[in-house]
Parts: sequence; C-alpha cells; structure tokens
Amino acid sequence: MRLLLCLLLSGALALAGNLTDRFNLTTKRVLKDGPPVFDEKFVLADAAAKPGRRFTEFSGDVSGRYIGALAAASRQTGERYPVLDRIVTGAVKLQQPDGHFGAPMSTGKVLDSDMATLWGNGRMLIGLLEYYDLTHRPDALAAARKLGDFYVKAGPRFNSEEVRTAYNGEKFAVGYICWTNSLEGLVELYRLTKAEPYLTLAREIAARTDRHPSQHSHGFLTTVRGVVALYKVTGEKRYLEQAETEWQGVLDSGNVLVQGAVPEMFAPQIKRDEGCSEADWLRLSLELWDLTRRPKYMQQAQITLFNEISMNQFHTGDFGHHTLSDAGLVPPFAHAWWCCTFHGLRALAAVFQSVFHDQSGALLYDLPVDGRGTSAGLTIRADSSLERNASVQLSVLKADGKAHDLRVRVPEWATDVKLSLAGQPLKATVQDGYLSASRVWQTGDVVTATYALRTRLVKRGNDGRQAALFHGPWLLAVDETASPAYFDEPSNENKVELRETNGQLHLEPAALEPAAATGAPGRFAVPVARFRLKYLPGGYSMQPQTALLRPIAEYTSGPDANVLDFWLPLVPTSEGLDSNYRPK
Ligand SMILES: [Zn+2]
Repeated sequence: MRLLLCLLLSGALALAGNLTDRFNLTTKRVLKDGPPVFDEKFVLADAAAKPGRRFTEFSGDVSGRYIGALAAASRQTGERYPVLDRIVTGAVKLQQPDGHFGAPMSTGKVLDSDMATLWGNGRMLIGLLEYYDLTHRPDALAAARKLGDFYVKAGPRFNSEEVRTAYNGEKFAVGYICWTNSLEGLVELYRLTKAEPYLTLAREIAARTDRHPSQHSHGFLTTVRGVVALYKVTGEKRYLEQAETEWQGVLDSGNVLVQGAVPEMFAPQIKRDEGCSEADWLRLSLELWDLTRRPKYMQQAQITLFNEISMNQFHTGDFGHHTLSDAGLVPPFAHAWWCCTFHGLRALAAVFQSVFHDQSGALLYDLPVDGRGTSAGLTIRADSSLERNASVQLSVLKADGKAHDLRVRVPEWATDVKLSLAGQPLKATVQDGYLSASRVWQTGDVVTATYALRTRLVKRGNDGRQAALFHGPWLLAVDETASPAYFDEPSNENKVELRETNGQLHLEPAALEPAAATGAPGRFAVPVARFRLKYLPGGYSMQPQTALLRPIAEYTSGPDANVLDFWLPLVPTSEGLDSNYRPK
C-alpha cells in the first residue's frame, strides 16, 4: 500500500513528454554513456591542462561545463549525482596558487594560449557557482572567489584596447570572447558575495562587448547572457537595452537561419551550426522573454527549440555540429562532446523554467511542452503530446479552493487553441494573446489544450523559387534516409508542387497529404506533422513522385549522416497551376 502510494506520488510529480525525454537522453549520456565516457580522469584533464584528449588547453572547458550542466540537471530532477560531487572535489584540488586553472599564463605579450586558458576558466567560474548554488558547499564558493580574484587582477591587462583589437579579428576560438565569456560568472559571483570588485570588472567587460563578422557566435552570445545577468543584479536599464539591441542585431544581420539556428561563425562565414550557439540563443531569447514579455522572444525561442535544438541533438544524446548546405543540412557532422553536449543539456534544463509564469495571481502557460507551474494557490503540471495529437494536458496538482485564472498562450504557429475540461468545452476569454479561464480549480482537474496547427511557407531568394514549410512549430524537410529517390541526380532540378497565386504562397491540396499513419513512430517522431509531398523529379518529371516531408526534429532518432533538404524548389509562378505542368 505504501509502495503504491509512493508510485502514485512520484507519478504525480514526474514530468513526461518530448522535452523531458530529450533532457533525460542527454543527462544519461553525460552521466553514463559514451564514447567518450565522462569519468573523473577524462573530465579533469583540462583543469590540469594534461594531454590525452582534445582541447585540454582550454582549461576548465569540459570540467566547468560538466559541473554547471549537471548542477542544473540535478536541480531539475531533484537527484544528487555522487560523481559530480567527486569531480568538484577533484577540480578544487587542481586550482593554481594564483586562482586560475590550467597551465601557467604568460606575463608579457598576451598569447593565443592565454586566451584558450581564459576561455575554459570562464566556463569553470560559472560551473562552480551553479554547483555552489545547488549544494552550498563552501569549498566550491571559495574556489570561485579565488578564481574571481584572479580575474580582477588580470582585468587591466585584458581590458586593454591593444588586446581587444588584436583578438577581435580572425582569432575565432581564441578570440576576445575568451576573455568576455567570464561575464556571467563574475556577475553571479557578485550576486552571491556582494563584493564590489567583481561588479566593477563585470561592468568593464560589458562595455567591451561587441559583435563582428566571422565571430565565434557562442562566445558572443554567452557574453550577452552575461549582460542580461548584469541587468538582473543592478536593475540598470541600459544593460537590458544593450542585450535587446544585441539580440536584434544578430537577427537583423541574417545570423538566425530559418530553422532557428545561429551558425557557429557569424556571417559571412556561415558554414555549420553549433549546439552551444543554439543553446545560447535559446536561453537568451527565453531570458529576454522572462524580463520583457515581448512576444518576439518567445516566438524565436520556440522556432529554435522545436527545430534547431531538437535537430541538433544526436541519438546518443550528444549535441554538436552539422554542415549547412544551400538546401538544408549535409554530413559531415560532429558529436561535440567537448562543449555542445554539456551546453545543450544546460539549455534543456533552463527551458523548464520558462514553461509557465505567474502574474498577479494568474498562472500563465507559455511554452507548450512538459513542465510545472505554480502561482499562489495553484500548481499545475503540463504533459505535452503536441507531436502526437497537437494537445497538452494541464493537470491541477494543488488548488486552494479559491478562484484562479489559468491562461494559455496562443502561439504564432496556431490558428486557434481550444480548452476543454473533462471532455467538455471550457469557457475562456481571449486576452493579450492568451486564452483565459477562471474558476475554482479542484485537485485532479485536467484541462486539455488543443492547438490548430498553422501551415506556413517562408520564401527565399530574389526569384522566390525556394520555400521552407512549417506545420505548427515544426520546420519540415525531405531527408535522404526516408526518401532516397528524391536525392537522385539531378535532384537540383526537382520541383515540388507548392505554388504561388496572386502573390500569396499557398499549398496545392493534392501536393501535400498527411502521412501520419505511415510506419510506427520512433522515439522522437512527430507524426502530427508528417506529410506525403508530391514532386517532379529532375531527371524524369514525366513521372511525378512522392517523398516523406517530416519535421527536422525527427533527425534525433535517425542516422547521424542523414541529408535534410528543407529549402524546397517551387514550381515557377509563370508555369501556371494546371496539372499538365511540365518543366521547360
Ligand atoms: Zn559547442
């Protein structure tokens, strides 16, 4: 009986859904799976700057990220990880007398090796502090303070205009961002200790933050997240404005691709994605949403979460790199276990914090994934089955017997949202982009939110001959694994029957048919957004064919070397709409 009660209780508390599944996959990969396996020797090799694996010269990069990501995962799951405690103990022992981790720094002219060391130390600083915030272990805070003091002492040297100019050019992985990425750690150290020198240094670094072409986007975006943190501790509007301006600048400079990806290197060097950059862009967008409630931030966060971040995750749980092609993605790929796997996990843990928010006693459900939200007198758990039936169940876990507002955000990718309670339509009013239902909730009430998914074409190029197709939040692609014939030579002459009439892009109904019933859905399948797409093959247009068009998010359960085309070649407008169409 007692066991049954425990099971029931844990069932009531545990989250379930696609986001939780993705979070669990990467948590397990970091804790147990491989290769490579993240054991103590492996993780701490960079804190000691000992050779034996890649990138140990970025001292603190793997170790600091490992500590920070697992601290965030532990906070989310409520589980303690003994290996994390041991690795923190091991890291603290490796700290140099001057406070930094890794090989000795130069004392004369700044070297590339100094920048590599600084990069990793920035990751170590925030990692130790996230761990301290979770455990309150004094040695973790003491090590972070010692590292912070090292940074304060190094400030004049690295804040110099000479170093900034020398490293803001083509240095990329050892660019000036190696210095500025420490910002989020320094701000957090100030928040926890209230020691002014950390804040002073943080302000100086924020003033030296700028974006430039071919920059390492992850380093830049991490620094901008530090600027957001600086706003939160100081309340000074100029820092929020700075972060918002930089966010808009990334978007306006063409550095956010249709799938919600920010390339590893800013334009004009757009070559591949990077899990870290995607994770930063997602976190930055959610943080700006939390601070401003401007819809553009939530809209952008959802494009990135449902598409690029999902696609970026490999079946192993790793995050990493994919090569960007003119039409979408191609191999080679890389499981970037040295950074993206941890940063991806850190971002997934952060997403749970933005699923709900409370506002003047009302509980608002913002992001249609699984999560838990609490306002005074009301606690609700969301179980999302969006990818299977376009709906989410909102279960009341606790209610105080008074009337409360539950508001469900109507996302940009839905034409409508309907609420029901125990199978009956629930009366709701539309207010500021939310459906609002007010009543005296009972523990055990289950509200179902059902989203009517919008189909949307995004056009590209001067001749408007290419379009990307979204269904609901998902960007759709034809992939080589499911539709090999689509990639037959000359596939660059393929045409799909999605057309434009009177200046409006629209779908030919016959060109696109739901394909949900085909095959058993895999672990990360999105059957609600699968279609059969009619197309004219480049080599034999006299025999129209069909290909499977499915969310790029499904990449996770497929082969790493898959090819995804999401920029689809449209039939030219001038060719007309009749079914006798033949390419010239
Ligand atoms: Zn990375």
